[in-house]
Amino acid sequence: MRIKKLPDSLINKIAAGEVVERPASVLKELIENALDAKADRIEIKVEKGGKKLIELKDNGTGIHPDDVLEAVNRYTTSKISSIEDIYSIESYGFRGEALSSISSVSLFSLISRQAEFPLGKELIIEGGNFKHLSDTGAPVGTTVRVKNLFFNTPARERFLKSEKTELKHIIDVFIRYAIYHNDKYFKLNIDGKDLYILNPSKREERIKNIFPKIDQTVQFLEENHTGKAYGYISPETRTGKGYIYINGRPVKNSILSRIIKSKIGESFYTLFLELPPYFVDFNVHPAKIDVRFRKEKPVHELVKKALETLEKPQISFSLHQQKR
Ligand code: ADP
Ligand code: MG
Repeated sequence: MRIKKLPDSLINKIAAGEVVERPASVLKELIENALDAKADRIEIKVEKGGKKLIELKDNGTGIHPDDVLEAVNRYTTSKISSIEDIYSIESYGFRGEALSSISSVSLFSLISRQAEFPLGKELIIEGGNFKHLSDTGAPVGTTVRVKNLFFNTPARERFLKSEKTELKHIIDVFIRYAIYHNDKYFKLNIDGKDLYILNPSKREERIKNIFPKIDQTVQFLEENHTGKAYGYISPETRTGKGYIYINGRPVKNSILSRIIKSKIGESFYTLFLELPPYFVDFNVHPAKIDVRFRKEKPVHELVKKALETLEKPQISFSLHQQKR
């Protein structure tokens, strides 16, 4: 066979596999877009473990009416314009891949309005095929609806787990962002029932609202030339669960988890790390959950030092949440 370029629709479907592994990855991208758009109200609806519906409504800046179509094209972003930007990135997104990927493997609709315009736009894409674009009345902000994920890629659809398992991943993503963004309103509705309604509150309260079993939290904090590490331990809650954030991004890092566990055993914890952007490489994978440090040792030392502050009987510093 001779060599030929793949059609864009096929490129997008293949690329979608990188970004969209399961319903929870769709939710992650939609939450990040809402937060990047400075929303402080995020309402999510999920049906059938996200296989049937994932909908997110935000009150963020919205998309310029002339950019709505552009938003679902591949490698289109409003968030960076040069390679330098990704080393000091303040937003979650920058690849411009999410909406194009998601809309190529679902029945996708987006409604968005900016405050300066009397009307918004509604866009409908089905499996990567443009269906409809029109003016529409809408509140300021953006609503994205993703139906029948993978309806046109049956091989991927077969890889999805049970509704129950997919829902577990969805709730996990929701919780990760809701913990960090405690100053924002979050709602999660599952199959018609509200599972979480979280009003803006202090971080400790947010954690207790999400996990009603937690009643006591102990703070830890350390700041040095490497950066800042702080968080909460819940000594009584022995779930073996923990949430790690670096510069506001939920991450997984097995070495850090091991360091923490060796100190506090199975107690529930959250760890928030603030590091200079050049210390961290989020660019490892499009799903951006794995993280690599340019220098490992100083970060590990910082976390160990922070955990040592748990041993002091009274910790009474005030923690102010810093901007990412
Ligand atoms: P990225 O987030 O990497 O830029 P996406 O495909 O997720 O790429 O989104 C493409 C663009 O669409 C974003 O850069 C942004 O300008 C716009 N956009 C997407 N979602 C929203 C939203 N909820 N509110 C405002 N703008 C959005
Ligand atoms: Mg994005």
